[in-house]
Amino acid sequence: MNPIFNAEHLLFTPASPNRDAIPTIFAFPNTYTVGITSLGYQVVWATLAMRSDLDVSRLFTDVHESLPRSPELVGFSLSWELDYVNILNLLEFLEVPIRSDVRGDNDPLIFGGGPVLSANAEPFADFFDVILVGDGEDLLGNFITAYQQVRTADRLTQLKHLAQVPGIYIPRLYQVEYDGDLITSILPIDSNIPSTITKQTYRGNTLSASTVVTEKAAWENIFMVEVVRSCPEMCRFCLASYLTLPFRVASIEESLIPAIDNGLKVTNRLGLLGASVTQHPEFPALLEHLAQPKYDDVRLSVSSVRTNTVTVQLAETLSKRDSKSLTIAVESGSKRIRKIVNKKLETDEIFQAAANAKAGGLKGLKLYGMVGIPGEDNDDVDQTVKMLRSLKKATPGLRLTFGCSSFVPKAHTPFQWFGVNKAADKRLKLLQKQLTPNGIEFRPESYNWSVIQAIISRGDRRLSHLLELTRNYGDSIGSFKRAFKELRGQVPDLDFYVHQTWDVSQILPWNHIIGPLPQPTLIKHLESATAQFDLVNSIDMNPINN
Ligand code: SF4
Repeated sequence: MNPIFNAEHLLFTPASPNRDAIPTIFAFPNTYTVGITSLGYQVVWATLAMRSDLDVSRLFTDVHESLPRSPELVGFSLSWELDYVNILNLLEFLEVPIRSDVRGDNDPLIFGGGPVLSANAEPFADFFDVILVGDGEDLLGNFITAYQQVRTADRLTQLKHLAQVPGIYIPRLYQVEYDGDLITSILPIDSNIPSTITKQTYRGNTLSASTVVTEKAAWENIFMVEVVRSCPEMCRFCLASYLTLPFRVASIEESLIPAIDNGLKVTNRLGLLGASVTQHPEFPALLEHLAQPKYDDVRLSVSSVRTNTVTVQLAETLSKRDSKSLTIAVESGSKRIRKIVNKKLETDEIFQAAANAKAGGLKGLKLYGMVGIPGEDNDDVDQTVKMLRSLKKATPGLRLTFGCSSFVPKAHTPFQWFGVNKAADKRLKLLQKQLTPNGIEFRPESYNWSVIQAIISRGDRRLSHLLELTRNYGDSIGSFKRAFKELRGQVPDLDFYVHQTWDVSQILPWNHIIGPLPQPTLIKHLESATAQFDLVNSIDMNPINN
């Protein structure tokens, strides 16, 4: 065994595979260090490894456990879009054809899940036989049980059987028709296949917790617990909220505290995870619990918290537990833009959060924002600059960092119809120029990366050929542009996927995947946003008026 695996502290007991166990590979398309830091990967691997009817080996791009010669199932957890390149590389390494339509009865079934595939699987649809859409808690078991029922059948029979399981999407069983750039229909290939696939939602009060702790993780020796799932704030661009609704919380007494105490037997580093952990109604009680002397040597970190929940108590607990800074998402210094995105946050709450962070002993505050939000103009960006400068003056000594990305449309959100605003690139540069001389550390996310994300987040199946080409050219925007040029006439151009505002009557590439909210509700949320636009923008950008 590779020594990297010897450094693991397992927090579950793997089953001994029975004689007839299904030879399975569960892969993460990146290095061990990246993969083992993904809570989702850890939990799915443990769920599979605890079944005696499976014999599971792990595969990363740099290391692997002893692999079966003839795996029947090969799974991938995809949490970063560009890791698709590694999926194709790993399939070749396993000598499996990369396109599902040329795989035969002797090839393994290639299944995938994770945030990228749950959001929009279409650009990758041709590479997978099976896609698990939604929470894995019940879905994973249902998938294995259904596979057992058809284990010895031919491939098409297997796929047709699996397609009957709620949340299992078999891309090959759906035919997409086009008229020019637009999709005209997405239909199952026969009447026995469900016409839509409903994303699965787990409703228990125990959420995920690390199943393995290791010094080789990117966050060395961290034990992670998921405190909340989804976010009730529903900022209109936010996939983390809209795609995973409804908002769910882990029970503090029954689940979180026992899990934390169990994890802290093997490490002293604790991460509280969730889209917005302080939204947990009992978060103050959890903080109080962790403030007890028995947790004195625990290093605590929390992912992004809601701005108006940054209390002195939270800052004190974090600074005593070795956290130096806190992250809040403010989106914009412009009140109008915050209203457009449904960010229920007042400017004075941002100032209060900074004051509380400082009073509680934290050294720094990271703020996250976005440019290119639909309806935004240069004046809104100026307001962000003004707000950050005033904040710097109001809290001297507190290190301020402003991380900023460009708006990217995401499937299943009310802003899915908007394109990436080309002006975002300039606005990032403007922020850089205005903030850095004022002592505010500026960390922009590359505009080009936003363009690549949009290609994938609004992509359809026609892009699988483009992804295969890009794979050979590298992951820069130049590579994507080159591939679009080569495929001109065969796929719509980059502008269609990335920058165009789509009409709400358009059939979306993910039309057959039923997310948490029905389309009319998303349109209502979109209308509430566009009602805030000024007249000029509403003519340009309101897809309802197009
Ligand atoms: S508060 Fe953060 S996590 Fe919640 S919806 Fe808004 S952006 Fe998403």
